Amino acid sequence: MTDLNQGAAWMGGQIIPITDAAIPVTDWGLTHSDIAYDVVPVWRGAFFRLDDYVTRFIASLTAGRYDIGMDHAAICAALQDMVAASRLQDAYVAMVAARGRNPIAGSRDPRDCANHFYAWCVPYVHIVKPDAAAQGTSVWIAKSVRRIPADSVNPRVKNYHWGDFTSGLFEAKDRGFETTLLLDHQGNVTEGPGFNVFAVFGDKVVTPDAGVLHGITRQTVLDMCAEAGLTSAVRPLPLEEFWGADEVFLSSSGGGVIPVARVDDRHFSNGAAGPVATGLRQRYFDWIARDTHRTDVLYP
Ligand code: PLP
Repeated sequence: MTDLNQGAAWMGGQIIPITDAAIPVTDWGLTHSDIAYDVVPVWRGAFFRLDDYVTRFIASLTAGRYDIGMDHAAICAALQDMVAASRLQDAYVAMVAARGRNPIAGSRDPRDCANHFYAWCVPYVHIVKPDAAAQGTSVWIAKSVRRIPADSVNPRVKNYHWGDFTSGLFEAKDRGFETTLLLDHQGNVTEGPGFNVFAVFGDKVVTPDAGVLHGITRQTVLDMCAEAGLTSAVRPLPLEEFWGADEVFLSSSGGGVIPVARVDDRHFSNGAAGPVATGLRQRYFDWIARDTHRTDVLYP
């Protein structure tokens, strides 16, 4: 059991320590990054919006033509068993469908592959350390790369196709920034590695409509705005308009609402976390503890 507390995996119905979890080198999941996945947070012993995450995962499976032979209930049961066995109270829980191995030598026909499901969990991941997030993080807009077009790799199907993000992250890290944000080929703001982005104009909160994953945290932000009396809009966000924002923040299942203090050499909200983002960040931590959105982990 102690092993599983560092992380556990569900593979073929077995729950094993994460350090023992592996897939074959000839799996198309590795050789072609041919994977659809999703990540649901567990917070204080309960999944947050579990049905929404699993519903999005199943939509990704359908769009990507993955057949894992498991329905919504079976996926939830696997996640439940795995997290319960790990005894983790706060966890990052990934569910993954890989294209699998092609049993026919040399075949390039994806229909021949043996698709398979696995899952893994580790202690909760904050994509930006909580202290740094509370102060307002820094974001570099990638110059050498644009977000891959949605008609090439559909960003609504959560995937492992991270070449564009990785290039952006090298640019950002080489310049001392925490993370990167990518534009599309029309000059609109899209998203970054593991997060959606929001710009605040007065009491109006705007997030891009297209070329992005429909983040569950993004949806939670839109829901929270309605509750907080803020207006929200989901629409294109051109970079020129973005520069005029009062505040900027990110949304992710890995840490909720993350205020941004600096983008490139431009300081937002006086180079600190803005009041709207800070309020939504606190509200998010309240929301993930709310009974209405929680599915208790059934620990042994
Ligand atoms: N955009 C991308 C590319 C992501 O990978 C993620 C999460 O990992 C998000 C946005 C945020 O989505 P969610 O709020 O569902 O975690």
